[in-house]
Amino acid sequence: MAEKIRMTTPLVEIDGDEMTRILWKMIKDELLLPYIDLKTEYYDLGLEHRNATDDKVTVESAEATKKYGVAVKCATITPNAARMTEYNLKEMWKSPNGTIRAILDGTVFRTPIIVKGIEPCVRNWKKPITLARHAYGDVYKNTEIKVPGSGKAELVFTAEDGTETRELIHNFTGSGIIQGIHNTDKSITSFARACFNYALDLKQDLWFATKDTISKKYDHNFKDIFQEIYEKEYADKFKEAGITYFYTLIDDAVARVMKAEGGFIWACKNYDGDVMSDMVSSAFGSLAMMTSVLVSPSGVFEYEAAHGTVQRHYYKHLAGEETSTNSVATIFAWTGALRKRGELDGIGELAEFADKLEKATLKTIEDGKMTKDLALITSLKDVTVLNSENFIKEIRKTLEAL
Ligand code: NAP
Ligand code: MG
Repeated sequence: MAEKIRMTTPLVEIDGDEMTRILWKMIKDELLLPYIDLKTEYYDLGLEHRNATDDKVTVESAEATKKYGVAVKCATITPNAARMTEYNLKEMWKSPNGTIRAILDGTVFRTPIIVKGIEPCVRNWKKPITLARHAYGDVYKNTEIKVPGSGKAELVFTAEDGTETRELIHNFTGSGIIQGIHNTDKSITSFARACFNYALDLKQDLWFATKDTISKKYDHNFKDIFQEIYEKEYADKFKEAGITYFYTLIDDAVARVMKAEGGFIWACKNYDGDVMSDMVSSAFGSLAMMTSVLVSPSGVFEYEAAHGTVQRHYYKHLAGEETSTNSVATIFAWTGALRKRGELDGIGELAEFADKLEKATLKTIEDGKMTKDLALITSLKDVTVLNSENFIKEIRKTLEAL
């Protein structure tokens, strides 16, 4: 066998829970360790270990990601009441993704994996559409009042020196509702930088849309911050990379997205991103075919699958039943991270290996060998449904034959 690919900087490896933890090991054993002298700094974010370390391990994994620049993460359980009992937890630990995102001040980009035989519902979508959702503020941090009857609603800002700025919201003549929302220039700026950095990384156009014609201060502020950062810091780099930044109204963006062929990044405000990412991902076919990368404004990358720990399959696995869990998004999390590491460290072979493994994964599906979730939606005829392990083994065979 050929010599293994050497790495210079460790990849931050963040392990997780349930079925994806099982897949994680299989992927490493079958598809990575035989070919790469894998150098990782390992953090076990499995719920038991998070509980044992009072969740310190989550913070440490984020700090390591900051230090080394590239991480790959397995799906993890976000505890709820049922998990408290199941794992006998000391506390209802917060979502690891939320903790890591807060430390890295990052934005999440989700991209569908396109493969022949799994057709998007929108016929003209030929290339992936990557969705970037701003993850702070707006309606997700709102304050609401149910107005019981007649009265005056005002928006008041009190500066540190006591100066008040007031705007009338509405003179109520009967009952109604009011809502206060906010965002910060700091958060919007981080979001904008993460989007521009990621567009340069992918060499894809960036679209951004809000409703600034109606929201002349609030949404306009988003538009202005993006424009200012773009002109000051990114316009030249975009030109050099042959890509464009383009702002439009959200309704116009939606109409254009439906007619487009894909191959761009669509940045959305928090609420638009929440709604549009579910629309885009379900229209592309399957949650199991969606990758996700957290990008910090300083250019740190954390790759993962967009789906969860696939709990239902894990319980089947524990009961000794066969599972057919799709490992594609988790494989692509690894290839994304390895490619990035290769690029940063100037190890061409590592990036080439990542390309090759992705190709082998897609070819395996296109050759009609896939997991059950894909077999149910494919347009290919005469497919072979494989179990979790055999699908990964089949990818290895394809890889060896490439
Ligand atoms: P999930 O793990 O995404 O799975 C929901 C369902 O989607 C599965 O039961 C399965 O459907 C299907 N599915 C998802 N991924 C699949 C794959 N790779 N292959 C085949 N089918 C797949 O969501 P969940 O069950 O709501 O959440 C389970 C745990 O994951 C929760 O504890 C949650 O906190 C956590 N979670 C973590 C992350 C993260 O770490 N990024 C994200 C979301 C959720 P069928 O059962 O019909 O086959
Ligand atoms: Mg949602």
